[in-house]
Amino acid sequence: MKVAFIGLGNMGGGMAANLVKAGHEVRAFDLSPEALDRAKDNGCAVFGTVQEAVADAEAVVSMLPNGAIVDAVYGADVIGHAPKGALFLDCSTIDVDTARKVTKAAESAGYEMVDAPVSGGIAAANGGTLTFMVGGTDNAFARAEPILAAMGKAVIHAGASGAGQAAKICNNMLLGASMIATCETFKLAEKLGLDLQTFYDISSKASGQNWSMTSYCPVPGVGPQSPADNGYQGGFAAALMLKDLKLAMEAAASVDAIVPMGEKAASLYEAFARYGSGGMDFSGIIKTL
Ligand code: NAD
Repeated sequence: MKVAFIGLGNMGGGMAANLVKAGHEVRAFDLSPEALDRAKDNGCAVFGTVQEAVADAEAVVSMLPNGAIVDAVYGADVIGHAPKGALFLDCSTIDVDTARKVTKAAESAGYEMVDAPVSGGIAAANGGTLTFMVGGTDNAFARAEPILAAMGKAVIHAGASGAGQAAKICNNMLLGASMIATCETFKLAEKLGLDLQTFYDISSKASGQNWSMTSYCPVPGVGPQSPADNGYQGGFAAALMLKDLKLAMEAAASVDAIVPMGEKAASLYEAFARYGSGGMDFSGIIKTL
């Protein structure tokens, strides 16, 4: 297929390369010349504007920083410029309301669109092992599935438009809160004189077990290899966790949901980022406890 790809940064660069490997003709645009150079090296055709990249495309994939940019790019340069009937797949993490608004505008102009945010970081984007959570109609999902499958290990239909973004921020709110709970628990265990490997062996087989402990342990040398074993570098940046928690707080406010643990996690990650640690892996928040 001819697939336009908008936003070839840390995540989009590897995703576009995997579409090329799967045999798609990828037509790339990014504001950054460096990102475009990398895309060209990975076999993409590069264009000087969004409108040129989408002009001939059967599908448009976007991987952009936030909802305002997604809204602006689709509103100004994709809707009405891609061929009628093209499928749009926005893989960025954005707010649910903007995802629904852009999809509605696309549908009114004769396109189908899915929100398809991802779980998994830069390594999963490069390795083609992302998990996609997809919001959209059954028909749009059926069209999107094979395109997304070339970039990931799992493609899950979460529900109607916006459901992909809703699933993503609910998952990451749980992850943010459970990471902090795991960190403070290990610090308490340490202060109570427990050997941390022994505590891990117990808790990972007891009812406190959770992903932040057994797949991404924030304590160096305990559990499988994780960013904690690399000075909290690489992995999922605390600034991105904060972005997702803020989206979760906005979404919670919009539906009057009570989320005290999510609020606390958002305020702790806000402080962590404010004091200069936004680039550190999100498990590095253990250093503040
Ligand atoms: P990034 O900043 O590395 O890449 C974004 C790219 O978009 C940049 O290359 C930038 O030049 C480009 N861009 C910005 N405005 C543009 C415009 N108007 N037109 C064209 N290109 C434009 O960010 P990233 O880490 O690749 O993240 C992208 C999205 O993926 C975000 O929504 C993020 O929340 C989400 N995400 C990131 C991770 C991660 O680990 N990095 C994990 C899951 C989800």
